[in-house]
Amino acid sequence: MSRFAVILAVLLMTSACNRDPSVQFQALSDEFVNTTLSFSPITATGVGLHQYNNQNLDDLLDDVSPAGLDRQRQFYQGFQKRLAVLPAGSLTAQDRADLTIIQDQIALSLLDLDEVHSHLHNPTLYVEALGNALFNPSVLEYAPKPSRMKNIIARLQKAPAYLDQARKNLASAPDIWTTVALEENEGNLALVDQTIRAEVPQDLRPEFDAAAGPALDAMRQFQDYLKNDLAHRNNADWRLGRDRYTRKFRYSLESGTEPDATLAEAEQEMARVRVRMLELALPLHRTMYPGHKDHADLAGTERENKVIGEVLDRIAERHSTRESYMEDARRDLDEARAFVQEKHLLTLPTRSNLQVIPTPEFMRGIYSVGGFSPAPALEPQLGAFYWVTPLPADWPKARVESKLREYNFYKLKLLTIHEAIPGHYVQGEIANDVQPKSRRLLRSVYGNGPYVEGWAEYATQVMLNQGFLNQSPEMALTFAKEDLRVLGNAIIDIRLQMLNMTDQEALDFMEKQTFQEKEEATGKLQRAKLSSCQLPMYFLGWRGWRRVWEEYRTARGEGRLSDFHDRALAQGAVPLPALGQLLR
Ligand SMILES: [Zn+2]
Repeated sequence: MSRFAVILAVLLMTSACNRDPSVQFQALSDEFVNTTLSFSPITATGVGLHQYNNQNLDDLLDDVSPAGLDRQRQFYQGFQKRLAVLPAGSLTAQDRADLTIIQDQIALSLLDLDEVHSHLHNPTLYVEALGNALFNPSVLEYAPKPSRMKNIIARLQKAPAYLDQARKNLASAPDIWTTVALEENEGNLALVDQTIRAEVPQDLRPEFDAAAGPALDAMRQFQDYLKNDLAHRNNADWRLGRDRYTRKFRYSLESGTEPDATLAEAEQEMARVRVRMLELALPLHRTMYPGHKDHADLAGTERENKVIGEVLDRIAERHSTRESYMEDARRDLDEARAFVQEKHLLTLPTRSNLQVIPTPEFMRGIYSVGGFSPAPALEPQLGAFYWVTPLPADWPKARVESKLREYNFYKLKLLTIHEAIPGHYVQGEIANDVQPKSRRLLRSVYGNGPYVEGWAEYATQVMLNQGFLNQSPEMALTFAKEDLRVLGNAIIDIRLQMLNMTDQEALDFMEKQTFQEKEEATGKLQRAKLSSCQLPMYFLGWRGWRRVWEEYRTARGEGRLSDFHDRALAQGAVPLPALGQLLR
């Protein structure tokens, strides 16, 4: 063989290799996730991507200038074209799942950049981003404390220009968005001036003060601007309307169903759950209120509300105390972990990086009960946090009592199962073992919401079906109430965003149909106006997980529950229709 022939053969081999659609696609996927993360250095810090193109992302804030937004638009449009010529038919099932995630993410970003225009109307976007930009380096221990403090200082130096650009961008905003931005900005001021200031090492004090002074001034000016300027330009609508909502629903939920069909399904399901609740409540009601004669004089919804309501009321009497609340949550966590092991429901993650801690103070406005903060996808060892929001010492007794009744003995256990084990913590940990890293990053940053929230609901149901808390009917009824709430969440999101449901209609619906207290219903209404396509995740996800399990069981048999959980969780947060494909 001549030398020329050898060279030619090598050339042919490399080009054949590059034409392998899977290799080609992986390179694209990798480029997509890293480039889009570089558009948001704030998000990048949170998932553990610190360097990109020789830039230290931890020192930067997001570029929200018109030129920056235009760069994003161009990237998404160009990428869409590059994906269109990909031979999708010859990709593996794993690649196709990632392709769907990327395509939907592009469509979602373009919908926002071209039509919804969040940057022009949503002040909470800037305030929350700035809060996260400063908060993450202060709690995620990706580097020694002094160097993370330098990241914070670098970001503080950029805060005045960032907020200035926000003012230039914002054209108008609905009242509710401005109100919430004001509250959150107040939280950011406290975060910088108190929480972070208290952590600054001695030798960095002068540098910190020099950056924090102008940043705090800019944040206070932004507060005035929100209150005295933007608040008067309130002619924007938080409702997406049918057309935009339908598309956002498709791209962000990826459930294969449309809003109208989802609404009809949720409303039918709701009637069934209420019937089941009455069946569960009647025997308890007879024991608890022997003189009430089953309220046989009432009928229909009125009787359901009376009987179920009275039983829920009595169930709420068994609850924790302000002092023991945290400890009770920790004890519930141990109990849930032991039950998962005893019943072999799944293989628990091996890293022991879960910490149960009080919700950070500036986050307590949003996480009034608790929440879960997953370990960064690229740095899982940094730890995951189950936040439990303590009951403030200065709350009057009646308010404490009301919250403890809501988060009673049963509900606190459900919260721990949902947020931690086998819910969000277990799911997030197993997803953090996905390989290769670019796939893990993609399925974490752009992970499917219904997969994540649906898993937590589905897993809770599995726990109860397997006999958690000895088939307690009180627990079953408490969980059925949660089921109603999940359905109610989907219904109000679709009706408010797409069908012009009024505030009063939404509040009446939640209070009279789903046993939510006034304070809770008011909070939920606010959340529905701040987000869209977020509240239906629970219902669509739960339904999706049930379907995938049914398929799996039909194909492989009843006894494979733990095997199903291990395999399904090992995929990471893919859209649920794709999960079904991957497990075939
Ligand atoms: Zn959740």
